[in-house]
Amino acid sequence: MDVNIILLALRSIGEGEIKPRIKNLGLLYEINGVELTPEKINEYRENDLLIPTSRYSYPACGVCNSTALHIVFECPTCKGNVLTKHDMIVHYECNHIAPAEEFKFKHVSTLYTCPRCGKQLSKVGIDYGRPGFGFMCEKCKFITQYPVIKVECDNGHVSNIYDLNMVIVEGYKVSSAANSLASVYEELVTAAKILKNYGLNVDVLCKVTGTSGVVHIIPLMLKDVDMNIVIDYIPNPNDTIQWFKIIARSIDLPNVLSIVVTDKPIDANILTTFNTSRIRILYNKDGLRISELIVKEVLRIIENQV
Ligand SMILES: [Zn+2]
Ligand SMILES: [Zn+2]
Ligand SMILES: [Zn+2]
Repeated sequence: MDVNIILLALRSIGEGEIKPRIKNLGLLYEINGVELTPEKINEYRENDLLIPTSRYSYPACGVCNSTALHIVFECPTCKGNVLTKHDMIVHYECNHIAPAEEFKFKHVSTLYTCPRCGKQLSKVGIDYGRPGFGFMCEKCKFITQYPVIKVECDNGHVSNIYDLNMVIVEGYKVSSAANSLASVYEELVTAAKILKNYGLNVDVLCKVTGTSGVVHIIPLMLKDVDMNIVIDYIPNPNDTIQWFKIIARSIDLPNVLSIVVTDKPIDANILTTFNTSRIRILYNKDGLRISELIVKEVLRIIENQV
């Protein structure tokens, strides 16, 4: 960050304090190190790229539903929240309990001396005990093994643990549509690059809103003054569900010509279900690279138009 910005930020604080804050990001999805927000994930889900498979629940702030929570320890006596953790010693005779280092004063190295009554402690379990770790309040010096545990969200709302809400979120798996998109993605990028070199306006994996308001993710789209062309790749063209989607989208995008690239010849029954002037099949019978096939076809259509 620029020094100027820091200085402006410092000046804006005035008499206020720069407080440390623990920030965590709350709910996130991660794919091989790529972090995705729930909003992004939801968008992919709405576009049928992801399918919900399971449910998870997480505690969330009772005020703002944030899942970015952290624990706050509080002194049960004065509600102070500056606590330090120590290995404790208790002197049985006078009941004094304090951090072990406070019993170690004077020059005696092996023995402890009670800072309250001044007596030497020699036998653990007989005249002194080691109860383990405890928390000492910096404000009132109260020592406890059980500080009050509260939870603070990233918006600064502090609450008791049992006042938290639960949010239900879903786990997802990748849909078959996303898988087939992913498998041809590089071919589409290659085709787009070549077509761009011809001065054409091409986009890969772009979003287009249909007349119904639904947003469609288009594998490859050519935006031309006269005509928009959408290109899909369906390796198995005899799966009717795929066609329903293509046909529904074609109705929703009235000014678009759909070209569907397939690897297999298509069933005659399926061919009768759609308007071939709006949806064209491009069967890769010669086993060309998909990018090559797409470029050829697009250039052919453009040339015929002129
Ligand atoms: Zn909150
Ligand atoms: Zn206290
Ligand atoms: Zn003592």
